[in-house]
Amino acid sequence: MTTTANTANTATLFIDGEWVPASDGGTREIHNPADGEHVVTVSEATRADTEKAIAAARAAFDRGEWAAVPAPERGDFLLRVAAELRARKDEFARAETLDTGKRLVESQIDMDDIAACFTYFGKIAGQNAGRIVDAGDPGVVSRVEYEPVGVCGLIAPWNYPLLQAAWKIAPALAAGCTFVLKPSELTPSTSILMMKVLEDLGLPRGTANLVLGAGAVAGAPLSESPDVDLVSFTGGVATGRIIAASAAGTVKKVALELGGKNPNIIFADADFDAAVDNALNAAFVHSGQVCSAGARLIVEEPIAERFVDELVRRAKQIRMGGPFDDAAETGPLISAAHREKVTAYVNKAVEEGARIRCGGTWGTGELEKGFYYTPTVLDNVRRGSSALVDEAFGPVVTVETFNGEDEAVELGNDTDYGLAGAVWSSDAGKTQRVARRLRHGTIWINDFHPYLPQAEWGGFGASGVGRELGPTGLGEYQEAKHIYQNINPQVTGWFPDHGKV
Ligand code: NAD
Repeated sequence: MTTTANTANTATLFIDGEWVPASDGGTREIHNPADGEHVVTVSEATRADTEKAIAAARAAFDRGEWAAVPAPERGDFLLRVAAELRARKDEFARAETLDTGKRLVESQIDMDDIAACFTYFGKIAGQNAGRIVDAGDPGVVSRVEYEPVGVCGLIAPWNYPLLQAAWKIAPALAAGCTFVLKPSELTPSTSILMMKVLEDLGLPRGTANLVLGAGAVAGAPLSESPDVDLVSFTGGVATGRIIAASAAGTVKKVALELGGKNPNIIFADADFDAAVDNALNAAFVHSGQVCSAGARLIVEEPIAERFVDELVRRAKQIRMGGPFDDAAETGPLISAAHREKVTAYVNKAVEEGARIRCGGTWGTGELEKGFYYTPTVLDNVRRGSSALVDEAFGPVVTVETFNGEDEAVELGNDTDYGLAGAVWSSDAGKTQRVARRLRHGTIWINDFHPYLPQAEWGGFGASGVGRELGPTGLGEYQEAKHIYQNINPQVTGWFPDHGKV
């Protein structure tokens, strides 16, 4: 497979309405993780470049052009972005696939989801304008208005590069904010395309800015700067801690969408075939590089042996391959470094007593060109061991067993994370009871992975702070302001006039 290389495109920072190179001329080469081929060379922003982008977003916000656009018209703008994405779906999907190595069909689904996200926020943009408050006094007019929070620093990861960015860009624009986006240094291409769309559709200068490059350099000013009002980050928990700590210096709003260690709980009365099939999806879609991956399979004792045998049999059949290989069912990991991390995770699990039922190896033959890791099932995993605590973020699923609802809930909640989880059973009452008791931001019943732009997404515990999507996802980008007017001012007499002294 040959990739489309574009070596000349190095003015790829979008700052104050201009496409510019890095101030020190720095560049970064992007390679396709499926075969190592060169994809594109992009600008590598310096701290100064990011500071310039923040200044542009600050000036644009203070000029107030975008916030002054009536909210329903801002919504119309988002609907036009959605239409453009639908019209150019294949171009965007191809760019996403070259950067990430994920199958083209998966990138196409991502583009549909991104268009749906812009459509959702486009439609609700005008719906949270404010409300009248009954002050209990006919002489008072009281209302709460929702204003844009201001300048937003948006930091996105590499696994769903444009989707994670869209969950931030769409509500930020709907609310009337300006922003600086920093995608993962590994996956810049679709963010560049997105900025071009926003530019072409006529967003006011400085409203949307793009910096590319390493987190500690190009990203750090977004949490540190006093000119940024909100930093919204999606990525690993370790980085989230750094961002929250540095944002504390200027007491800005912080939204964190972090990792997960998500339980997939299968009761003995579940639909066996559907549960096995979905357990494969839960663990191995996008080679497990999904924050909500069902990386902890928790099966009820009576069916555990048969269930895991079947899962292993099916996992061994999964075909790995490049993004344009029609026979491929899943692709590579994002980088050599990430594959080393997954390898170290599995090795440590084995040292701590886990047994590899399948997988645990790198791709061979043609696959040696990329960063492939075979779908892996680990059983005999001791409670409290690192395999159950740490996020692998790769195609690895651990097996635990239980008996009854109480133990299912206890195991499902036995994690510092709390992003998502699933419950499988044919007993509707049981699934509802267990769903209520699980401490995770999303619970699927007899399903795994679907999400809706109109429903909040985010985590309990170490999985983050705040919510994306849904009405709350718009609210993250707004400040509430209470305006209280006394229409009949009177002397209160609280401090009586005691006469001249
Ligand atoms: P990461 O934390 O390494 O990087 C995420 C982003 O942060 C990148 O753009 C990176 O350049 C930037 N960054 C790194 N250090 C920074 C700093 N000091 N200041 C500012 N920015 C900095 O994460 P990743 O490896 O790109 O993504 C994988 C992680 O993301 C996983 O843990 C996964 O669970 C999580 N994730 C969570 C969700 C969710 O919705 N909760 C969604 C996708 C991914």
